[in-house]
Amino acid sequence: MKIAVLPGDGIGPEIVAQAVKILHALRSDGLKIELEQAHIGGAAYDAAGDPLPDATLKLAQQSDAVLLGAVGGYQYDTLPRAMRPEQGLLRIRKGLGLFANLRPAMVYPELVHASSLKPELVSGLDVMILRELTGDIYFGQPRGMRKLENGERQGFDTMLYSESEIRRVAHVGFQIAMKRAGLNGMAKVCSVDKANVLDTSMLWREIVTEVGSEYPQVVLSHMYVDNAAMQLVRAPKQFDVIVTGNIFGDILSDEASMLTGSIGMLPSASLDANNKGLYEPCHGSAPDIAGKNIANPLATILSVAMMMRYTFTREDVAQRIEAAVRTTLQRGLRTADIVEAGMKTIGTDMMGDAVVQAL
Ligand code: NAD
Repeated sequence: MKIAVLPGDGIGPEIVAQAVKILHALRSDGLKIELEQAHIGGAAYDAAGDPLPDATLKLAQQSDAVLLGAVGGYQYDTLPRAMRPEQGLLRIRKGLGLFANLRPAMVYPELVHASSLKPELVSGLDVMILRELTGDIYFGQPRGMRKLENGERQGFDTMLYSESEIRRVAHVGFQIAMKRAGLNGMAKVCSVDKANVLDTSMLWREIVTEVGSEYPQVVLSHMYVDNAAMQLVRAPKQFDVIVTGNIFGDILSDEASMLTGSIGMLPSASLDANNKGLYEPCHGSAPDIAGKNIANPLATILSVAMMMRYTFTREDVAQRIEAAVRTTLQRGLRTADIVEAGMKTIGTDMMGDAVVQAL
């Protein structure tokens, strides 16, 4: 398992250090893990004048998986756009051909009160949002601003998806549903679009239906995005895997992550066509708490679990890591962002140690 480790900025180095402890523990247990570290984001700009130096991209390309912390910081906000830390992230996703973004929204029984929804709506929630990451209106051409005859300016973007782009992400969705069904019993995919208004969505629905016929064991449904946004806060447990395009997925995955109430708990994966992946927490670099040893490292640790599941197909190891996180929570240990009355607040470092101990 050759893993590129890119801590990045802000709390990135602190939380990634805890995930690396887990990898070291697994290595002493016999897994053949090779780690190599490199800069990305603001840290890379400081070190090499580029948020994604060639050496970092090369290392990522030569690795089986990438573990990333987060990028960004106030001190970089005035740089020209091409030099901003976030460009490092966009470029590495593109450079690795990562088109499938997986964001689970999961509520641990111990954290059910952190959600803004009523406990009965979210307890046991386990939804996977699969967002297409490289197409759609974010990348479609033409786009720009033009002057109309009356002198007024007009902004425009183009929403587009080709059949092959839809097909490959749909396959990922059905395969994930089947993998999860092994755990949860029933395989369900809900494809989200706006087929009542958009031609792009009509094609999306047609192709997803076609791909779905290759997976008779998965129950496929379709939902318009406006309804999906509503259903996610009305009855989120009706969903298993949601498959959707880039812009709808961007919005719905943020909405779903908030159902859990704890941004420090949410991992993510971005996969290419061969299940090579980049794994990172959903949150950003949290410059407001960087360097204070108070950030929650669990989202990053759970990203390692996803890495074991999706890139290395080691479901057993993924489950061990997830169980270790659950044990740690059951012991009443919490970082400041998820603490409740009667619980013990511990720092980033101690949380990493506690999970290693539970593992
Ligand atoms: P953020 O996710 O960094 O922080 C939002 C809030 O959540 C902050 O109050 C922060 O302290 C808290 N928080 C985040 N992660 C936490 C953790 N693990 N434990 C405890 N609390 C945590 O979002 P933001 O403040 O909007 O952005 C800060 C910087 O991060 C910006 O430069 C932004 O561009 C960047 N960013 C990077 C990524 C990424 O690297 N994938 C994603 C989002 C934002």
